[in-house]
Amino acid sequence: MSHEIDAAGDGSGVSRETAGEDVSRETGGYRPPTAGDFDNRPGATQFDRQTPLAEAAHHTVLARSGGQEPVSRPAATRVFVVANQKGGVGKTTSTVNIAAALSQIGQRVLVIDLDPQGNASTALDVAHHQGVPSTYELLVEGAALADVMQQSEETVNLSVVPATIDLAGAEIELVSVVARENRLKKAIAAHPQVGTEAEAGPDRFDYVLIDCPPSLGLLTLNALVAGQEMMIPIQAEYYALEGLGQLLSTVEMVKAHLNPDLDVSTIVLTMYDGRTRLASGVAEEVREHFGDQVLRTAIPRSVRVSEAPSYGQTVMTYDPASPGALSYLDAAREIASKAVPESGAASVAAGDGRGEGQ
Ligand code: ADP
Ligand code: MG
Repeated sequence: MSHEIDAAGDGSGVSRETAGEDVSRETGGYRPPTAGDFDNRPGATQFDRQTPLAEAAHHTVLARSGGQEPVSRPAATRVFVVANQKGGVGKTTSTVNIAAALSQIGQRVLVIDLDPQGNASTALDVAHHQGVPSTYELLVEGAALADVMQQSEETVNLSVVPATIDLAGAEIELVSVVARENRLKKAIAAHPQVGTEAEAGPDRFDYVLIDCPPSLGLLTLNALVAGQEMMIPIQAEYYALEGLGQLLSTVEMVKAHLNPDLDVSTIVLTMYDGRTRLASGVAEEVREHFGDQVLRTAIPRSVRVSEAPSYGQTVMTYDPASPGALSYLDAAREIASKAVPESGAASVAAGDGRGEGQ
């Protein structure tokens, strides 16, 4: 289920050249603002765009993504909780790729890995062995966000709070901690780069994405209390909607008692295979039920997406012209251009948590 397993499978089985479903006509065309994207791609060079075919492809890509390059920054930091208590639906994959895509369109992004498995940390290639300052120190020991954050080397303007295996114990250790469900909210609110332009200046984070574990325990609860927006990845398959009721009633409980600002603003369909009637049926059902909350862009099932983490990359740098990368880029644009919910991100830095645990 996890990408480690995929990595082994892909390493021996599907080679990058032969992953036929993913070979797109645009291959080699798109240039995101990171250096050396194509260095490790067979047959590709830095100068691919100088060929007429690649230049044409680049234009196709730009046309597809709306022709704009950077998008405007939100007025204040938007904190997204990426949650679904089901495992393997694409939470981590969506978190890291939307984060990387947002940074490619000019946003400043922070990913907080809240899953003890540390899959987001792996994909974003940040150190997360035992002993590395991580979400565990943030939540359990009250460390400051700034002290547990790392800069991604692969992607500009992308910071990461890694998760180490220590986090596995946090669920239990937090039980006896005062205000245990507010820990993450306080840590985020206390960071000087979180808030409005007036509060946090030009270096503020535009997006904080919290990758949750596949459960509704204290870790996920901390995220639901800390966020204003919730992103639910839904895998377009038969059991997709099972368990969503439980998730949504947890959200209602959190809204009623702990975080009235929480809004399920974004549903993203993942691993979508438009050729099957089942997938399109599920997608239709999800759209009927959730309406505008569902991103227009569905993320296709794509080998490139699943093999990227084994190279310590997101698909956004691993194969930026692949359908998965283009879809995540479109999804990021949609998110960035969607109105911020009424309750607004402006309240994020207004918490009483400044200096907590210092
Ligand atoms: P979660 O975080 O919800 O447990 P993951 O993001 O880890 O889910 O995804 C589960 C598995 O599905 C991983 O092996 C991942 O590589 C794979 N996967 C996710 N999205 C896609 C996609 N669009 N195409 C192909 N494989 C995918
Ligand atoms: Mg995950």
